[in-house]
Amino acid sequence: MAKQKKYIFVTGGVLSSIGKGIAAASLGMLLEQRGIKVTMLKMDPYLNVDPGTMSPFQHGEVFVLDDGTETDLDLGHYQRYVQNATFTRKNSFTAGRVYEAVIRREREGGYLGKTVQVIPHVTDQIKANIRAAMEDADLGIIEVGGTVGDIEGLPFLEAIRQIKHEEGAQNVLFAHLTLVPYIAAAKELKTKPTQHSVKELREIGIQPDILICRTDRALERDIKDKIGLFCNVPGDSVFSARDAESIYDVPLLLADEGLDDKVLEKLGIWTGRPDLSKWKAMVEAIHKPKHEVRIGIVGKYTDWADTYKSISESLVHGGVANHARVLPVYIDSEKLENGDLSELATVSGILVPGGFGERGIEGKIKAIEYARTQEIPFFGICLGMQLATIEFARHVCGLERANSAEFKPGSDQNVIDLMDSQKSVTDLGGTMRLGAYPCDVLPKHNGKATHAYTAYQNARISERHRHRFEVSNTFRPRLEECGLLVSGRYRHSTGEELVEMVELPEHPWFLGCQFHPELLSRPLSPHPLFVQFIKASLQAAKGTQARLKGIK
Ligand code: GLN
Repeated sequence: MAKQKKYIFVTGGVLSSIGKGIAAASLGMLLEQRGIKVTMLKMDPYLNVDPGTMSPFQHGEVFVLDDGTETDLDLGHYQRYVQNATFTRKNSFTAGRVYEAVIRREREGGYLGKTVQVIPHVTDQIKANIRAAMEDADLGIIEVGGTVGDIEGLPFLEAIRQIKHEEGAQNVLFAHLTLVPYIAAAKELKTKPTQHSVKELREIGIQPDILICRTDRALERDIKDKIGLFCNVPGDSVFSARDAESIYDVPLLLADEGLDDKVLEKLGIWTGRPDLSKWKAMVEAIHKPKHEVRIGIVGKYTDWADTYKSISESLVHGGVANHARVLPVYIDSEKLENGDLSELATVSGILVPGGFGERGIEGKIKAIEYARTQEIPFFGICLGMQLATIEFARHVCGLERANSAEFKPGSDQNVIDLMDSQKSVTDLGGTMRLGAYPCDVLPKHNGKATHAYTAYQNARISERHRHRFEVSNTFRPRLEECGLLVSGRYRHSTGEELVEMVELPEHPWFLGCQFHPELLSRPLSPHPLFVQFIKASLQAAKGTQARLKGIK
């Protein structure tokens, strides 16, 4: 008989953004470190078929998986905490995708003329998707997006209720995350919102087994007992998820309260103690850095921190590897356009992240020119790499009108362009290069290791992509003649070669990559390009201090 799989469903109550993804990922990390084969799944109740087309203002970054699936930033958290699971299209789905499958099947006559209904057809589809995601794992942590009480979340809650019924109570655990606010005026922690959200869950047939309460302080036993009494949960199954200085503290804080022990007890799983030594060492390095370094992230002011979630986490990871705290300085590229570059003088490394659209690009190009000419370490990611190529073409190769076909379609000096095979496509939908592609790394140039090879120590790597435009092969010889070194290449099956990394060999550290390295960085295995960028920025920090003194 196949091994019985165990399911942990994580729901959220009261408010959104109280850290359900981090709590779920933390539990995943604790269970994986005990040797359990864990996977994680995010179910989102909205109707978009995938989050790739959603506004980043509402939704934060789009996180891309190896297989090209566009998901949201929760998958990024999962991947940073859980080391061994491979996340694919199966590990994230939306109500839109569920309904799409049901409607397609109805059109194909798959329901044999029956009335197609939310229960059982939509709920069956949800259950099938959950089980498909669990195929290679022994235990799944399944996060239900949204907040209990949302109308659109109901089919998901009904589906997970049914799974407990079908799989047996000992194999399914419901964990509910709520907020327990401290009201300063009353000097009291308030449990009423928690009671209400649990009441709502129970009305639809879900009795939580475990409550995780987000608070700004540890909950005393008497509060836990009170919450437990009103919510029909033993007091020792109520846990506090305290505000933490670093998101990587969260699993350790939850383990201190015994969350993982309780979960395993309830699911009847026996394991050894988790080995948290590496994680603890990493957290220690975050809290007790030996150095500090300011990194400028040049973006549109309309972007917000969550748009660059994986980048800011990768900077933390790169910092840990260098015993340094990275202080991210968000610099509005439009402000640079009028020529005031003083903010750039305060940072020791400049990062231009990915992006879409023309707004703010001239400011980013100014920042890149500054980094190149002042020898400040520069890291250009995707759009950042494309703009570095444009800057180089304009100011070093004398191609004054150098641009990208994204901003000036049909212009005569588009050093960034669509691939030839794409040019005939008029509809840009669906033409993005998405997911993992192999890349050949150039080991040496003029007898010296390239920045890329020094980082990777490997001549063949794989990185994730999400973009439409490429460095033009028409202009590539001119760029190379002028000194832009192509240190990463992808050979397309058509024989066409694509530029994956460019660098300036004579610069302390100047590297652009067409892919998104931030999508592969983990706290326990920081991405090598981020490690090297921070290392170079720490070197440059000495110079920054001298410059700042000069300004004073
Ligand atoms: N807008 C650019 C392109 O489509 C870059 C995309 C990105 O930075 N992710 O190629």
